[in-house]
Amino acid sequence: MQTEAGVTRCPQCAQQIRLDPGYVTWCDQCDWNVDPTGSDHQQPAWRVKLEHQLADTLYRELENGRIQRPGVDAARIAAYLLSAVLLVLPLVALVGGVALLVFYRPLWLSIPLAAIAIAIGLMLRPRATRLDPDVQLVFREDAPVLFGLLDQIAAAVGTTQVAAVALDAEPNVCFVRVGWRFRPVIGIGLPLWTGLRPQERVAVLAHELGHGRNGDARHGWVVDAAESVLEQLEAAFTEQPYDEYKLDAAHALGTDTSTSHLTRVINSIVGPIIRGYAWLLDRVSLRGNQRAEYLADRTAAEVAGSEAAAWALERTLLGDTSYRALERALRFEKDLPPLEAVRRAVAETPKREIERRLRVSRLRETRTDSSHPPTYLRAKLIRARPATSARVVLGLNENQAIDQELAAAAEQVLKDLRGSL
Ligand SMILES: [Zn+2]
Ligand SMILES: [Zn+2]
Repeated sequence: MQTEAGVTRCPQCAQQIRLDPGYVTWCDQCDWNVDPTGSDHQQPAWRVKLEHQLADTLYRELENGRIQRPGVDAARIAAYLLSAVLLVLPLVALVGGVALLVFYRPLWLSIPLAAIAIAIGLMLRPRATRLDPDVQLVFREDAPVLFGLLDQIAAAVGTTQVAAVALDAEPNVCFVRVGWRFRPVIGIGLPLWTGLRPQERVAVLAHELGHGRNGDARHGWVVDAAESVLEQLEAAFTEQPYDEYKLDAAHALGTDTSTSHLTRVINSIVGPIIRGYAWLLDRVSLRGNQRAEYLADRTAAEVAGSEAAAWALERTLLGDTSYRALERALRFEKDLPPLEAVRRAVAETPKREIERRLRVSRLRETRTDSSHPPTYLRAKLIRARPATSARVVLGLNENQAIDQELAAAAEQVLKDLRGSL
C-alpha cells in the first residue's frame, strides 16, 4: 500500500482514498470498510428481509405519488383489531372476577379466585403515556418565540397546538400524546437539537407535528398498549430464572416438583402462542409505521423546504456523535461550554463521513429503531420529489432567542446528565 499525507490506497480496489484523522477510513468506490463495526443490533434474518422489501415497495409507491394521504389501509385495521383483542383481555379478567364473587359459591373459594382474576386484570390494564420524570418541561409562557414557531408550523401542517416541550438528553426529537387527555408534547433532545441549523430545526419539528396530524401517536398508543399487554403475558408465561430457582429449591427439599412441571407444560404451550401473536402484530404495524415516517418526512419538506428536510435527516445520523461530544465535554472540558462542543462536533464532521453513514444505513437495511425506514431511502425520497421552498422560515435572531429561552431548562438537563456520568 502506497501512502502519502492525507491519502491512501484502497486495499480492495486500489482506488485513492482520503484520510480524515479521527474518522473511519473507507472507500467510496467499492465500499471497503464502510461499516467497520457491523451491526450491533442483531435482528432475525426474516425481519431484516421483510423490512427491506417493505422499504422498497413503500418507497416506490411514494415515489410514484400513489399514496397521497395517510389512510385507513388493511394493515392499520389489522393492527387495530389485533390490539383491540388484547386490550379487551384485562376487561374480561375484571368482569370475570366480579362475576365469580357474585355468582360463585362457596365464598371461601370464590374470593381467592376473584382476587386472582382482578389482579390479572389490573396487571394487564392499559396505561396512558407518561413523560420521563427527568425531562425538563417548557411551557408557552417560558418560551414565546419557540411556541410562536411551533404554532406557525402547526398551522402550516394543519394540526393542533403543542401543549408543552419536554427537553432531555436523548439524541432525538419526538412527538407524544401524554395522559388520558392525549395532550400533544414535543420532546426535544439537546444533543440532536443543538447540532441543527435553523431551517433543519423547522424540518424536524414539522416532521414530528406531521405525526400529530396523521394520528400516528394515537394509533401508536393503541398498538403500544397492546404490546405492553403482550409483554406482561410473555413475562408471565416464559420460564424465568426464578422458576429454575423454585425447581432447585423443591429438589433440595425433596418435595413434589409436579407443579413446576405443570408450569413448564403451560409455558411451552402458551408461550409460543403469545410470541406468535406478538410477531403478527409486529408484522402488520411495520408497514403503517414506515409509511408514517415517509409521510411525516413529506410534511417536513413542505414546511421547511426539501433541501433543509433532507439535510435534517442526514444530521440525525450524527446523533451518537453529538451525544458523545456532549458526554466528553461534560467529563473533561473545563473551558468549552458543552453545547458549543456539540455544535463544533457536528459542524466539523466531513461530508464524506455523513455519506459513509448514509451507506451504512443502506447496508444494514434496518434502522436500529425498526419503525423507521433506512435514512438513505428517506433522504433519497425527499430529494427525488420536486423541490419545495420553505413555508415557515426561522431567522437567525429568532433561532438565538429560542436557544436563550431554552437555556435554563438546558442547564438543568446538563446538570442531571453530568450527575449520571
Ligand atoms: Zn475500494
Ligand atoms: Zn418520525
